[in-house]
Amino acid sequence: MTTIAFIGLGHMGLPMARNLLKAGFALRVFDLLQSAVDSLAAEGATPAASAAEAVAGAGVVVSMLPASRHVEGLYLGESGLMAQISPGSLVLECSTIAPESARKVHAAASARDIAMLDAPVSGGTAGAAAGTLTFMVGGDAAVLERARPVLSAMGKNLFHAGPDGAGQVAKVCNNQLLAVQMIGTAEALALGVANGLDAATLAEIMRQSSGGNWVLEKYNPWPGVMENAPASKGYSGGFMSQLMAKDLGLAQEAAQLTASSTPMGALALQLYRLLLKQGHGELDFSAVQKLFVE
Ligand code: NAD
Repeated sequence: MTTIAFIGLGHMGLPMARNLLKAGFALRVFDLLQSAVDSLAAEGATPAASAAEAVAGAGVVVSMLPASRHVEGLYLGESGLMAQISPGSLVLECSTIAPESARKVHAAASARDIAMLDAPVSGGTAGAAAGTLTFMVGGDAAVLERARPVLSAMGKNLFHAGPDGAGQVAKVCNNQLLAVQMIGTAEALALGVANGLDAATLAEIMRQSSGGNWVLEKYNPWPGVMENAPASKGYSGGFMSQLMAKDLGLAQEAAQLTASSTPMGALALQLYRLLLKQGHGELDFSAVQKLFVE
């Protein structure tokens, strides 16, 4: 069985790596946070003391890091990982980063005869744990076929979005829409409660009416409405607001490049920046609810 090196064991990477272990892959893991490495080592993964040690001789490398600078810092440059990965192997870069950063990593990979896909995900930490993520893939379709057994162990829907970087374009469009839905839902719930409605009752009415959306189905931002949602756990776990602000910034960059008009995305970015300024950057992105309640 192919050895997979997995780098970045945070909210998403840890459960994704766990599913690769469950599928029977030999896994070598690395994160800057030793406790994350230790917890997977206890479940059967081989701990690595560095990213370079993790990728040595691995047939597949998966990375799940916060942002473009982490990914470029990991792979590129003379001491970057691309110089350590064996030619002929496969890199699956699953972080949400700028399409341009993904293309730089693609170029470095192809210069070394390494196959690569940008493969950002949707589905949140629950999807990562359940192995039901959606992968939005950019790169060669033939490489996607080669990657399918690995990606299928972590996700349910695999979409080929287009050439190098296209997975990232799909991802920033999706997350801009998600942020707008989250903010709109939080605003409507606060309006209803201020006018005397019970939040759970209103949420259920809207869920089954024309305002129904993914946030109301799976990720209600009002504390106590949905038992397993981050809102009911003090907005802990899930997808940090600072990462949503990053993705909205990436969407604005993409809009700038193409002179696209994205007023809702621009406003969503401003509201998330406000939330960050209030000190809530590490809370789940549904904490945007806080902007609308006393
Ligand atoms: P996170 O901050 O929880 O995890 C990132 C991990 O990367 C951390 O454990 C950190 O220590 C590690 N790391 C950073 N630099 C490293 C390096 N050079 N070498 C090794 N490890 C390093 O973030 P997350 O929530 O897991 O998100 C990861 C990516 O997935 C982000 O790009 C995010 O936008 C995207 N994403 C997150 C969610 C979600 O619901 N959390 C959903 C979809 C996509």
